[in-house]
Amino acid sequence: MFNLITKYLRPALFVTSSAAFGLSTNSTPTTNFLAQCLSTSTKAHPDDEIYDCLVIGGGVVGLAVGRELSVRGHTTLLLEKTANICTGASAGNSGIGCTGYDAPEGSLERWLLRRSILRHPNLYRSLGLSYNHVNKCGALVVAWNSSEDYALNEVLHSNHAAGDTEATLLHREDILDIEPALAQSSANGAVWVPREMVTEPWLVPIAYANNMLLNGGKIKVGSEVCRADLKELNDDQKVWHVTLTNGTVVRARTVFNCAGLYGDLIDRLGVGRSTFSIKPRKGQFVVFSPIENEHQSPNVIIQPVPTLRTKGVIVWKSVYGNIVVGPTAEEQEDRDDTSNDAQTIATLKKYGESILPALKSCRVVGTYSGIRPATEHRDYQIHHTKEQQWVTVGGIRSTGLTCASGISEYVADLYEDAPATHTNNPHQSRAAMPRTDPVLPPYLPSLPLQHPTAIPNPAAPDLYTLASDYYGRNDGQVYCFGRLWKVTHPLSIHGMTALGPVKLPKRRSNETLREFKTRYEQWQRRKNSDERNQATNGATATRRRRQKATQARAGGAQSGAPDGALDGAQDGDQQPVQLPKKELKLFTAEELDTYDGRRLSKPILLAVYGDVFDVSYGGENGEPSMYGVGSGYHALAGKACTRALALMSVDPKEIARGDDLSGLKQEEIEAALSWHRFLVKKYKVVGRM
Ligand SMILES: Cc1cc2nc3c(=O)[nH]c(=O)nc-3n(C[C@H](O)[C@H](O)[C@H](O)COP(=O)(O)OP(=O)(O)OC[C@H]3O[C@@H](n4cnc5c(N)ncnc54)[C@H](O)[C@@H]3O)c2cc1C
Repeated sequence: MFNLITKYLRPALFVTSSAAFGLSTNSTPTTNFLAQCLSTSTKAHPDDEIYDCLVIGGGVVGLAVGRELSVRGHTTLLLEKTANICTGASAGNSGIGCTGYDAPEGSLERWLLRRSILRHPNLYRSLGLSYNHVNKCGALVVAWNSSEDYALNEVLHSNHAAGDTEATLLHREDILDIEPALAQSSANGAVWVPREMVTEPWLVPIAYANNMLLNGGKIKVGSEVCRADLKELNDDQKVWHVTLTNGTVVRARTVFNCAGLYGDLIDRLGVGRSTFSIKPRKGQFVVFSPIENEHQSPNVIIQPVPTLRTKGVIVWKSVYGNIVVGPTAEEQEDRDDTSNDAQTIATLKKYGESILPALKSCRVVGTYSGIRPATEHRDYQIHHTKEQQWVTVGGIRSTGLTCASGISEYVADLYEDAPATHTNNPHQSRAAMPRTDPVLPPYLPSLPLQHPTAIPNPAAPDLYTLASDYYGRNDGQVYCFGRLWKVTHPLSIHGMTALGPVKLPKRRSNETLREFKTRYEQWQRRKNSDERNQATNGATATRRRRQKATQARAGGAQSGAPDGALDGAQDGDQQPVQLPKKELKLFTAEELDTYDGRRLSKPILLAVYGDVFDVSYGGENGEPSMYGVGSGYHALAGKACTRALALMSVDPKEIARGDDLSGLKQEEIEAALSWHRFLVKKYKVVGRM
């Protein structure tokens, strides 16, 4: 066992921790890792506390798990070996919010991604994040030549199977509508994936960390675990004695291994075996300066058709405006070598310029790489070995930033009431079962926060404030959530550097959102005036006719940002879209029934908790309504459907019971309430019943 450890774990070279207060540090330098392992003294932790939970690893996954456990009231300590949190794979990713279409169907990874997406709007808001930090821009999965065309159907199917039924196949002309920056490219066809998004990749883990601290958890950086022994505490209890390379011993009842690229080694260190071996997979990136001409700058994420191993090289605009090209997917032995090689960087640069010719006039402001903790499996490796009081959260390969919230919930559920069966079959866990929704709506209402008593983060500063602070301090740190943090993600560093020197008035905090709204309005105007396509392309023409009819019905309510696109934002920094005030009409059930989408002259309506909503339009890309004839939820059109939504059912018997909630469980009633909140946000209320 020690051979393996010495092979991979290099001697710990601790740097004194950053001045990040709120985090404590064990920064004693050590020289020989093996010697530490063999001759560790058993100095007890000074306060001699036995923690309920000890999390090893301060990447986004460990931080989210630590937060969830703390929020649920378990005394939790997180240990991170480097001098700062968010330094491993979490500091080398693309920062894309993934929808999971490229994760294997039926995998735990896809399940947890979908679960995360449901949690995000409310969770991110409670973490202090806003649409200033998360750009819900959508993605185009592009076929670059006719030989890739065939694969688009597969991509479309995967999106639909994952639950994103609004994903659509696009022809070249449609692609240019959505992304005019591709005009000079060879884009042949694409699948539009509206739910993919771009995040501030460093702030998300930091937000989890801050929330963990606020909710009573502790984080120690500069604390490398090198030994773990499960020892008798008394006749019927055992505790883990976890030894750090400086000799300190901390005690905890359960250990959570979130060590990323070292996950297999930490498993072997603790429980003597691992169900996986880490196969480090490097991804290199090139970062360009922002493209000044708005029409040549990409609005959406541009992805190639994914392969079994990787999502492929992506081109996108970071939340700060830099254009990024990457990542590659290169297998390597070394778990720490994040170097870039000139040839790969040159290839990436060329690839980026072939897609976005405007990049030729941009500066390369930096390069970076990250290493994915991939394994021999095409799925996450999450197990709770109850008798050994050990939870493995391993192999979180390429979607961990997005999935951290779903993972943390799943892991905490496993820990709280795991029967023995969990060890072998995570899909059967109680964590997954009760939330299996037979019907997943395309625009998902956010789940209510599971622990409403959890202390929320204060709002994070907007990007311009962060950048100014970063620039002004000049020591690599920023002040956020009331603490100082070291900025560790290269994309954030390049982004803050790009924005930093500009002294900006405060009002610019709304600018990203306003830019987005303006772009959306421009895009809609272009689409509406494009009569030529209506005549030549049957499918497109039908869609656009419906869109126009919809706009007529909605009486202009679609101007402004797309409805549903703004859920989950910190409300404070947004300009509400002003809708014309109208007197609300009173509907009888019979009358409502005539608004079921069968008559083009009438909008499609449905009622929940007595409010009548106009659900004629589908969403930001002008898709037909999901409630229209032939669509998945047509059965609800023209109906009072509070009960049906509470049960997530389109069973006619349940729909016929309208607003009758008798016999429903509390969580079902809450589901109906959450649907109502969602509809209020996304659709216009046009009447009452
Ligand atoms: C190139 C690339 C692109 C990606 N793109 C995306 C994307 O667009 N979207 C997305 O959602 N995900 C993406 N990911 C995946 C995501 O970044 C990872 O899934 C996630 O960061 C894994 O987090 P982690 O906490 O498991 O691992 P890490 O971030 O590596 O954290 C593990 C931590 O454990 C610590 N540790 C290890 N050993 C010890 C020890 N003995 N004692 C104490 N601490 C220890 C390490 O120092 C490290 O900080 C990408 C990853 C890469 C590399």
